[in-house]
Amino acid sequence: MSEALTPERDARTQELKRRLDAVQLRIADATAAAGRTDDPPRLIVVSKFHPADDVRRLATLGVSDFGENRDQEASQKADVLSGLGIRWHFVGQLQSKKAKTVVRYAHAVHSVDRPQLVESLARAMAAEQERSGRDSLDCFIQVSLDDDPAAHRGGAAPADVPVLADQLEEAGGLRLAGVMAVAPLGADPDRAFAKLADISARLQASHPAAVAISAGMSQDLEAAIRFGATHLRIGSDILGSRPAVR
Ligand SMILES: *Cc1c(COP(=O)(O)O)cnc(C)c1O
Repeated sequence: MSEALTPERDARTQELKRRLDAVQLRIADATAAAGRTDDPPRLIVVSKFHPADDVRRLATLGVSDFGENRDQEASQKADVLSGLGIRWHFVGQLQSKKAKTVVRYAHAVHSVDRPQLVESLARAMAAEQERSGRDSLDCFIQVSLDDDPAAHRGGAAPADVPVLADQLEEAGGLRLAGVMAVAPLGADPDRAFAKLADISARLQASHPAAVAISAGMSQDLEAAIRFGATHLRIGSDILGSRPAVR
């Protein structure tokens, strides 16, 4: 680690610590208000568009889970930061042909939304098991919460969740963790996350181990916690706004 990254000396580390503390306070307050102190959600810091050095700084502050939404950027960071014990979560739309590289570094994929992607991930994990002996990849079924199908921003229709769940359960090397969603732009987050909680309850009726709910971003983490989120994906409130161009 370079001297500039010594926590006491580095202004960026101080800034990240302030922002991280503020978000963790919000999470603690919302967790207590929801009566979930015994079962707090896990924080995933979404580091897309921010440099690997910021991930390193946050790792020194105790963050262990990071999210990325583009394979190339994620694999580069995972490579540079290997050895820090970071768990990488892939949270973006994923092309099937990228499955092979994603399984090399990702602990979990939060954006499984179609049968073809399940097939590609299963094939990629079979090869990865051969290569590295790695056991399994956590998979979240991403669900679209848009009422208007035309506004669709990724994610399976709720009606397609059971088929994807069965397919994931049967595929070797993939573990069905639960569901993931992004609240639709302009929608009431309470209403969106209530719908997600309902989808999760129906999934758990047939797949009792699929208890995870990945929901909640900077703007709506309190609502997500109220409706049972187990994994929060927080970017800008910790790292600042993302650069427009890179
Ligand atoms: C960028 C991103 C986030 C983080 O959003 P913020 O509003 O910056 O907290 C969460 N989930 C997904 C899928 C994302 O792409």
